[in-house]
Amino acid sequence: MSIQFGPDYVRAIAPYQGGKPIAEVAREFGLDEAKIIKLASNENPLGMPESARQAMLAAMNELGRYPDSNGYELKQTITAKYGVPADWVTLGNGSNDILELAAHAFVQPGQAVIYAQYSFAVYALATQAVGGRADVVPAKNYGHDLGAMLEAVTGDTRLVFIANPNNPTGTFIAPGEIEAFLRKVPANVVVVLDEAYNEYLAPELQYDSIAWVRQYPNLLVSRTLSKAYGLAGLRIGFGIAQPGITDLLNRIRQPFNVNSMAQAAAIAALNDDAFLRRSAQINTDGYRQLTQAFIEMDLEYVPSYGNFVLFRAGSDDAAGARINLELLRRGIIVRPVGNYGMPQWLRVSIGLPEENAAFIAALKEILS
Ligand SMILES: *Cc1c(COP(=O)(O)O)cnc(C)c1O
Repeated sequence: MSIQFGPDYVRAIAPYQGGKPIAEVAREFGLDEAKIIKLASNENPLGMPESARQAMLAAMNELGRYPDSNGYELKQTITAKYGVPADWVTLGNGSNDILELAAHAFVQPGQAVIYAQYSFAVYALATQAVGGRADVVPAKNYGHDLGAMLEAVTGDTRLVFIANPNNPTGTFIAPGEIEAFLRKVPANVVVVLDEAYNEYLAPELQYDSIAWVRQYPNLLVSRTLSKAYGLAGLRIGFGIAQPGITDLLNRIRQPFNVNSMAQAAAIAALNDDAFLRRSAQINTDGYRQLTQAFIEMDLEYVPSYGNFVLFRAGSDDAAGARINLELLRRGIIVRPVGNYGMPQWLRVSIGLPEENAAFIAALKEILS
C-alpha cells in the first residue's frame, strides 16, 4: 500500500475543471486552431485593451527586478477610482487569490463557510483547502437565497461567500437584499462580496458596495481585471475592506503575488473607460443575440447579468455532455456545468457577433 500524504480534507478535493484550452481541442478533435471558437471561460472577446498592451511593453524592460510588493502605483489608481485609502486594498493574483486568502485568514479546520448552491466553484475549493465545513444553502431560482443563508449562520460560521452577479447562473441580487443581509449577519462573520462581473451591470443596476465597506468592518468586496477589463491571462484582481480584514490578508499573501506586468497593465486598464464601454456594449448586443436564438429554439435559459448565459441543453441528465461533445466536434468550446450539479445545462460566454452566430448555427444543426 502506498503512503497517503496530507490531511483527508485535502485528498477529498476534486480538481477545478476549467474551460478546455483551444490547443487541446485542436489536438483531440483534429481541428485547425485558428477556426476554433472559445466561449468557455467568460473571457473578454475583445481581448486585452491596447492601453494595457502599451503599458506592459514599457514594463517589460524591468522584468529582471522583483515587482513592487506593495503595488504602490496600482493602489493609487484604485484609491482614486474607488475613494478608499490604500490600506483598505489587497492585491491578488486574480481575484481567486483574494477568495483563497479570505478562507486561509478567517477559517480554521472544522469552522463553517456558507455559500449558495450553484455559486462559483472556487468557494468550495477554498473552503476545502483549509478544512472548513461547507454549509451550502439551496439556491432560489438558480440564485442566492440570502434569507436562508442568514438562517444558516451558526456559532461555527466564519465566512460567507456571495457572488453578485453569480457564475455560472448569471443571477443578480437586488442591492437592498444584500444590505439587509449585512445589517443582520453577526459582526464576527466575514462576508465576501464577489463582484467579478460588476462592470457588466447596466447603469440603472449599479450600486455602491464600497459605501457598505465603509459601514461594515466585516465586508470584503472583491473585483477582478479578468472579465470586463480583458486581462484574464495576467492574473490580477483586488479586494477592498477595512484594515481589520485587509491587514490580515496582506500578512498571509505571498510577498510578490502580483507580477510587475500585471500591475502596469491593471493601472492602464482601470483608467481605460472607453474600453470598458466597448466591452459592455458588445456584451449587451451579444446577450440579445444569444437569448433571441434560445427563444427561437425553445431552449430554457437563466436571465444573466454577466457576460455568459446558462441554457438547458436538454431534459435528460446526459444532455449537457452530449451537446457539449457535438459542439466540440464543430470547433466550439462552451462550459459543461455537471460539476455544479447541473448536467442538463451548458454555459456559453458571450462572444463577438460572428462567434455567437457560429455557436447558434452549430447548436441549431445539432438540435435539428
Ligand atoms: C471569473 C470569476 C472570478 C475570478 O477570476 P480571477 O480571474 O481569479 O480574477 C471570481 N469570481 C467569479 C464569480 C468569477 O466568475
